[in-house]
Amino acid sequence: MLTKVYDTPAVYCLNVPLPENPLKNLNCYIIQDSGETLILDTGFNRPECLEALMAGMEELSADWSKTNLFLTHLHSDHTGLAPTLMKDKPGKIYMSRVDYDYFESIMVGEVWKESDRNFIAEGFTEEQIMRLHSENPARGYEPERFFSVTALEDGDILHVGKWAFSCILVPGHTPGQMVLYQPQEKLMFTADHILFDITPNITCWVGTQDSLGNYLDSLVKIRQYEIRTALPAHRKNDMDVYVRMDQIIEHHLNRLKDTVHALAANRGSHATQIAACLRWSMRGKTWEEFPLSQRWFAVGETIAHLDFLVCRGLVEKRTRGTTNSYCLTMDGALCCSQLDCMWQMYRRK
Ligand SMILES: [Zn+2]
Repeated sequence: MLTKVYDTPAVYCLNVPLPENPLKNLNCYIIQDSGETLILDTGFNRPECLEALMAGMEELSADWSKTNLFLTHLHSDHTGLAPTLMKDKPGKIYMSRVDYDYFESIMVGEVWKESDRNFIAEGFTEEQIMRLHSENPARGYEPERFFSVTALEDGDILHVGKWAFSCILVPGHTPGQMVLYQPQEKLMFTADHILFDITPNITCWVGTQDSLGNYLDSLVKIRQYEIRTALPAHRKNDMDVYVRMDQIIEHHLNRLKDTVHALAANRGSHATQIAACLRWSMRGKTWEEFPLSQRWFAVGETIAHLDFLVCRGLVEKRTRGTTNSYCLTMDGALCCSQLDCMWQMYRRK
């Protein structure tokens, strides 16, 4: 289904289904001007996604010889069809250099093995990790092969006809996600950096010390831009983008405080034990009843929050043998008041 969401420049939103995934769909945006087309993100490497994309391009009578593809970040619901879609076509695939380098280490390197070791250190069993190799939605539907791109740096400009779009690096959700901004129209494609009816997943990344700290800094960075229209990569946007950023910032403060309380009550726990104490939207299910893949996402988020506390000296991380454990470095109440002080730099003045 194709909907025109902006007039000048012409922007269409193509509803790309993500079957069996809680995200439900990808908002694939197609920008057109003066015969040129730019596609933002592709959906999974699945026939349902390819069908939707081809139908949308057909409906727009898009000229494939003047079509480029921009990938906001490395997740497979955004990159899955990149090589399939652009095969034997002259157009370019654009992606941030940071995410592309990381993507390469996932596609051809050892990143998953290191990630598996990290999760075992945080309380997953070898058997659970083996099961996740087939059950984890983060691992399926990747591109059929590794592909080359035109790598982008923060501040680079992309053109579609007479319109210029700035590429803004917003690390956090992935190490090198990018959003696109059209300054005259104050139009921003917020990718998965700002979502409106779900909170963007912030997880631990191999080689990244502080994903959550990076993410919060990237929210502050984006808040400096004047945004009249914000177009997210999933679901809908029915609220003010600045209010939404405030909500996300407060969400993480509350999450950090919950993590502190869980640690105060369970000194020396690993991330899986802490995650089991936190609130998750599990539709009435207990932690043990929660599907393994969802527990994996929850533990990834918990590690990102623990990393944030460790980086700021509020929590100490110890590794004994192959298992990690965490302890508060001060009284829980003092920890929370320090977080409250820190939040002054993230809140709007
Ligand atoms: Zn994503």
